[in-house]
Order: sequence, then C-alpha cells, then structure tokens
Amino acid sequence: LTDLSGKTAIVTGAARGQGAIEAELLATAGASVLLCDVLEEDGAALAERLTSEGKDVRFLKLDVTSEADWQDALATLRDWTGRLDILVNNAGIINRKIIRDMSVDEWKKVLEVNATGAFIGIKLAAPMMAETGGGSIVNISSNSAFSGHYDPAYTSSKWALRGLTRTAAMEFADDKIRVNAICPGLIVTDLNRNSPHLGPMIEMTPAQRAGEADEVAQLVLFLASDASGFITGEDFVIDGGFTA
Ligand code: NAD
Repeated sequence: LTDLSGKTAIVTGAARGQGAIEAELLATAGASVLLCDVLEEDGAALAERLTSEGKDVRFLKLDVTSEADWQDALATLRDWTGRLDILVNNAGIINRKIIRDMSVDEWKKVLEVNATGAFIGIKLAAPMMAETGGGSIVNISSNSAFSGHYDPAYTSSKWALRGLTRTAAMEFADDKIRVNAICPGLIVTDLNRNSPHLGPMIEMTPAQRAGEADEVAQLVLFLASDASGFITGEDFVIDGGFTA
C-alpha cells in the first residue's frame, strides 16, 4: 500500500543483513535506492539481482566515516534522480570487548562508524533533502540504547544515535525533514542465524523468539513514508518485549 514512487533513498550498510532487506523493501515500494556499503562484491551482486527483478537500484562503495564518499553518493544522486528523500543510517559494527580489554583506538572505531558515520550522513544529506521539500531520516540504533550492556563502545554509540536523532529532528524540522530512530533487539540475520547465543537471548524475550529483518524493514518503510508525517525525534524499540 505504501507507495514511494518518485522518491530516492540512500541505505548504508546495504550489502547484507538488515540493510539489504530494508533497501529491497524501499525499492519494492517504488523508491530509487542507492545501496551503500564497504562490501563491494556483495553490494554489487545485490544491486544486480534487484535490477534484474525490475527495481531501480544502484550500488556505490561508501565508507560512512568518509566525507568524500558521502559527497560521491550525493553527486551520484544528482546525476541519477536529482533528489534525496530518504536516508537510512543502518551501517554498524560491534566490538564486544569490555572497557578493561578495549584499546582507545578500538573504542574510537566503533563510535566513528556507528555514531560519527550517521552524523556525517545527516550533515551532508540534509541540505540536499531540503532542496526538494524535505524528507525522512531513519537511524538504526539498538535496544542496547536503553540500558547498560557488556559492550561499552557499541552501547555508547547506540545511545549517541538516540541523542543525535532527537537533536537533528529539532534542527531540521524547519526544512520538513523528519528524523527517527529504530532500536531493534535480537534480529536474525545470516551472521547470527546459527549462533549459540540465540537460544538464551530468546528465552529472555517475552515474545519467545528473535525478530526478523523484514520486521525492522517494515518499520523503516513506515517511517520513510508520508504515513508517519507527524512523527519525528522518536525512537522505536522493536524487540518482542525484551526492553519492556
Ligand atoms: P551486518 O553486519 O549484517 O550488516 C552491517 C553492514 O554494515 C555490513 O554490510 C557492513 O559491511 C556495513 N558496514 C560496516 N561498516 C561500514 C562502514 N564504515 N561504512 C559502510 N558500511 C559499513 O549487521 P546487521 O545485523 O544487519 O546490522 C545492521 C544495523 O542494525 C547495525 O547498525 C546494527 O548495529 C543494528 N542492529 C542489529 C541487531 C541484530 O541483532 N542483528 C540488533 C540491533 C541493532
């Protein structure tokens, strides 16, 4: 029912996992989607498959921490559709070391990709969105951003994304740009489908199961679309009741 025809989206971390599913759903809804990732081979293969299915997508190698790569992405859009309506800051990395074991450089790396990457994306993309009347930014945080966990850098980066979401929502409201965060719990992707940790996590989840990437993607689609036009500066936990 949601129609994104005529809209253009960027999804970061789109070569695999949740980002790939989010990008595919936005394209299925009619958006032109620029798939961005550091994984060139996987991203190009996904773009080729989606194109063969009639979807309007392209892949671009982009490291979210590189301002030059973001400029390339925006230049690509200017040549392609001439606009940007939707930005999904989905790329993320995790390092589960505790503070005692983590080096300063390891800490910086996680913060740089998960928080600074989204900051650069918002900073550079928002002016282009404003040119064509606004848009929607969705930051993929985590339900880790509601408590403390034994992964300090990841948890801190995801708390930072919640803060960035709220402040960006205020700053860009005048430009008719909405900014929201999604905070998933355990979501099954190819990376963790066979992990021994799935069982214990599921036991602690009231819904007694892990989430599916498509369930997160459906929320991305809603927040990206005009159906959520009065929602901004919010974060949405999607974790089967784990945080409740
Ligand atoms: P994933 O590892 O399958 O996908 C992450 C993608 O981001 C990969 O394709 C990776 O190459 C890309 N990436 C990493 N660093 C990058 C960079 N510097 N620039 C561009 N791309 C980069 O993981 P996923 O489970 O699909 O996670 C997607 C997002 O959802 C992440 O932000 C993650 O923190 C968040 N999240 C995941 C879960 C879960 O249980 N899977 C739960 C909560 C939040």
